[in-house]
Amino acid sequence: MQLRVLVLAGDGIGPEVTREAVRVLQRVAERFRHELVLQEGLIGGEAIRRTGSPLPEATLQAALTADATLLGAVGLPEFDNAPPDQRPEKGLLGIRKALGVFANLRPVRAYPRLLDASPLKNDRVQGTDLVIVRELTGGLYYGTPRGIFGSGPEERAVNSMVYTRAEIERIAHVAFRLARNRRRKLASVDKSNVLEVSQLWRRVVSEVATQYPDVELEHILVDNCAMQLVLNPRRFDVVLTENMFGDILSDEAAVLAGSIGMLPSASLGGQRPSGAWVGLYEPVHGSAPDIAGQNRANPLGAVGSVAAMLEYSFGLKEEAAAVNRAIETVLEKGVVTADLRPAGKPATTSEVGDALIAEI
Ligand code: NAD
Repeated sequence: MQLRVLVLAGDGIGPEVTREAVRVLQRVAERFRHELVLQEGLIGGEAIRRTGSPLPEATLQAALTADATLLGAVGLPEFDNAPPDQRPEKGLLGIRKALGVFANLRPVRAYPRLLDASPLKNDRVQGTDLVIVRELTGGLYYGTPRGIFGSGPEERAVNSMVYTRAEIERIAHVAFRLARNRRRKLASVDKSNVLEVSQLWRRVVSEVATQYPDVELEHILVDNCAMQLVLNPRRFDVVLTENMFGDILSDEAAVLAGSIGMLPSASLGGQRPSGAWVGLYEPVHGSAPDIAGQNRANPLGAVGSVAAMLEYSFGLKEEAAAVNRAIETVLEKGVVTADLRPAGKPATTSEVGDALIAEI
């Protein structure tokens, strides 16, 4: 199979973790005999420095034509006080918007080797293997009317949580299809005891569920979900949520994994006729300027994002599993970076990459 991948290394530790992720992808292509066509592009602070724009037109065009995009991270302290359209983050929001990625998937796994890295008790975290599917382009963060009006005691602020049936249906289909490929359990999160938006959400998700009789659906209130995520995370397989609930719950769930450097993400748009998803794949962490350029960053979030790319955009489950198995083995062997607090000397970013490649 031909895999046309755009690589946007970005800022800070972005290029370091992306380098290892690309090496892993190259190894997978070699091992499973795929033709890998890589293209590189600029985004974020580095793009502003070199072209004056956080999302140059060439990058945008390349993303629109590539099969999938792998992104490192964006953000540099030197742009912290820059005007909004001259900030690295603008590039990230711009590319998400251009690709129309409305579904954000965050897999969270508790690897046995990392149980001690989580602040939660081992017996709670052990066996956690869930994916949060968060709606990314609607809800409270985008709804109108919004704004701050008036003055004095009458000054008021308004945000609107808005979802259309079509928006709920398309994200629900993503979650149900994903559940079908996993343990066939879906928890749909809402606040239907209070919010009309949630009542529509619950109704539409229940309707979509009739097309997936093989998937067990439960509706769970967001407050209970927040509690269950730390009390009994093993009960979850796929968790479907609207934008703001997902923003909050996915950070809470990240604690289960031990380090932010471990977490991959996939943001998916439409599905191509082949069944492949238009996708943007990136580790959850930022550019970590405090450790950039030191070969210390954990590349496993970026490498996990490559596994997600293989699975969702290319439908290559065996290849994705090979990458995930390599991650697990390398963790078991203790070849880990400093953020995972190894007993002995921490491995460097590139040593973790070497170890992964040796396992594939
Ligand atoms: P951050 O995720 O960059 O760093 C938070 C902490 O986690 C730091 O101590 C860092 O050293 C550590 N860390 C992060 N990734 C790690 C890894 N792979 N290995 C080891 N340690 C790691 O978040 P921040 O410090 O709040 O933000 C720094 C910059 O990144 C800001 O400019 C911010 O806007 C940007 N940012 C970008 C993204 C993105 O590109 N998706 C996401 C979040 C933050």
